[in-house]
Parts: sequence; C-alpha cells; structure tokens
Amino acid sequence: MVTREETRQAREAKLDELHERLTGAVEQLVSGDDWGRALAFAARFRARSFSNTLLIWAQHAAAYEAGRVPEPVPSYVAGYRQWQTLGRQVEKGQSGFMILAPVTGRFATATPSDPESWRRLGKGEKPRPGEVVRSKMITAKPAYVWDASQTAGEPIPEPPAPKLLEGEAPVGLWDGLAKLVEERGFAVLRVPHEGMIHGANGVTDYTAKTVAVRENMDPAAQVKTLAHELGHVLLHGPDQEDARQHRGIGEVEAESVALMIGAAHRMDTTGYTIPYVSTWAARVDGKEPVEIVKATGERVRKTALTILDQLDTAQVGDGTPPGLDRETPHRNQPSHERSAPERAASGRQVQPLPETGPRAAASAAVMQGRDL
Ligand SMILES: [Zn+2]
Repeated sequence: MVTREETRQAREAKLDELHERLTGAVEQLVSGDDWGRALAFAARFRARSFSNTLLIWAQHAAAYEAGRVPEPVPSYVAGYRQWQTLGRQVEKGQSGFMILAPVTGRFATATPSDPESWRRLGKGEKPRPGEVVRSKMITAKPAYVWDASQTAGEPIPEPPAPKLLEGEAPVGLWDGLAKLVEERGFAVLRVPHEGMIHGANGVTDYTAKTVAVRENMDPAAQVKTLAHELGHVLLHGPDQEDARQHRGIGEVEAESVALMIGAAHRMDTTGYTIPYVSTWAARVDGKEPVEIVKATGERVRKTALTILDQLDTAQVGDGTPPGLDRETPHRNQPSHERSAPERAASGRQVQPLPETGPRAAASAAVMQGRDL
C-alpha cells in the first residue's frame, strides 16, 4: 500500500530530477554554436543614445505603416557599410532612418582643471609634452541606418526560438488550472489573438486581476500558457519583491513551473520551455544563465507541487494504475518516435527532457526540431 506521503515524496523527487534536467538543457543550449553565433552577432551592434533610439523607432513605425518593413519594431539596425561588413546589402528602394551621429574632437591641455585652457587638436596633431588629451562631442551630423529587414544576404544568426506546442491538452487540465487561477481572485479570459495582448501568448495583469490566454494556438499550447500564467499568479504578485527584481527571473520561474505541470501530465513542453527559459535567464545581468535557473529551483518545485496537489487530473506517478492513464492524450510524441534514452527512461513515467549528455543534441536546432 502506497501512502499519500510516499506518493508525495516520489513526486518531489521527480520534480527535482526534472529541474536538474532543465538546468542541464539550458546549459547545453547556451553553450551551443547557435547561441554563441547569435550573441556574437548581437555584440556587433553598439548601444545607441536614447534620442537616436527614439528616432529609429519612430521612423521604423512609419515605414511599417507604409508597408516597407514587415515588423512594427526594429530588430538590428546598422549603417550601410556596416551591413556590408556583415555580408548583407541594403535592398534597392529602401530609404534609411536618419539618426544624429556625434562628431567628436580631441582637446588638449596642461592644466585640466582650467576650463579655459583646453585647445582643440588638429587632425593628426600630437599633444605637447605634459598635456592631457580628451575627446568631446562638438556637434552632431545626420547619418543613416537600416533595419535588418531592409537588407538581404547572409542569414542573421538568431537565438533559437521557443516552438509552440501542438496537439490536444491533457484531459481536465485547463479547467483545473483555471479554477486555481480563479481561487486567487483572477478572472481567466480567452482572447482571439495575440494582437490583443501585446503579441504574447498569455498575460497576467495584477492590477486588473486577469489572466488572458490567446485562443489561436493548439489546446496544448493554450494550457501550457495557462500553467505559466498560474506560476506568475502564485509567485509574482506586487507584494513579491524578490521575484520582481528582474523580469527575467520571473519568466524563468513561471515557465519552469509550466514545464513541471506539463511533465506530470505527459505533456512535453521542452521545445518551448528550454529556449524560453534560456533566453530570459540570459537577460539577467551579472550571473550565468545556468546559475539563474539553478537558483530558482526550490521556489519552482514548491509552486509546482502546490499546483499538482490541488489538481484532480490524472497525473503520472499519482497512484493511477498503469494503463488507466493511457487515455491522457500524448500525441505529442508517439512512442515509436521516441529516442532510445527516452524509451529507457519511460519506466520512470515522467516524460523526460532531452538528454543532457554529450550524445544528446547540444544544438538548439535539434531541440527546436523535436516534433512537439
Ligand atoms: Zn510570463
């Protein structure tokens, strides 16, 4: 006879293992070639002044309205020749966005504290012995930049994008999660498309007390999103200062909760979760992405456990006799397509994350290629 406490301990152990696998998968992704190329590419674009950023955004928005660029917001922006050095060419007929490029001059003095004593150096002129030299902006001149979408050529290295889940949702999971969201005083809204929620799959609004999920994706993706938003509801209210320090940490936590809820229902969310968690973890300054993911482990596990305890859905490892839970849809990954390590692990019942060993696909491309 398996006691409730034993079941709970077994579940905790599984969630721990799951989190370790997630951490390993993030580590693999962020140390992979695709990730490195995307970072190196991004590093070639220097930060621009606030006013130039505004100039670019305004002109890009106008170009979007005129149908000259496909996206409302700019991606990578660079000058004509810089695009050429990156192997891309501005397309015919695309006019650039005007920004103000600073023109600097070199100034020298032997008495730096006296503002009157600085003199401008001519081109190539050297300072006299004992003089210090400083560069200073004298004026600004117009310069032109183009968005990546106005150029063609070598492909732009992009970090792997989260892949939306496909297929059916586990039976009863949407209703169970929605009930928990509502118990916290939030209304669950289903919106027709992402345009209504800032292009997102789901949004939690702590002020309006709403959780919105878009309907124009597969049920599996919708329910995964609801689990993510429930993670936000439970972990990231306005009174939760810690997690609100950086949005990246909050996103890592919410999506890790969604992964655990999914796994307990045989729903493999890794094709979405791993790139998503990696991307947000990488946006937190001062720490390696893997450190961020590791640090959230305890909170994530506790939250997932709280949620799973309150759901009355059929979950793996909850004592349901094997075979009875086969009705839970898991067309996400037909068994004959499973890889060997996954088949070997199937005795453990938790749908395993991709292996983290050297044999496993280190590159994000492979992770993305999983047919979820
Ligand atoms: Zn989120």
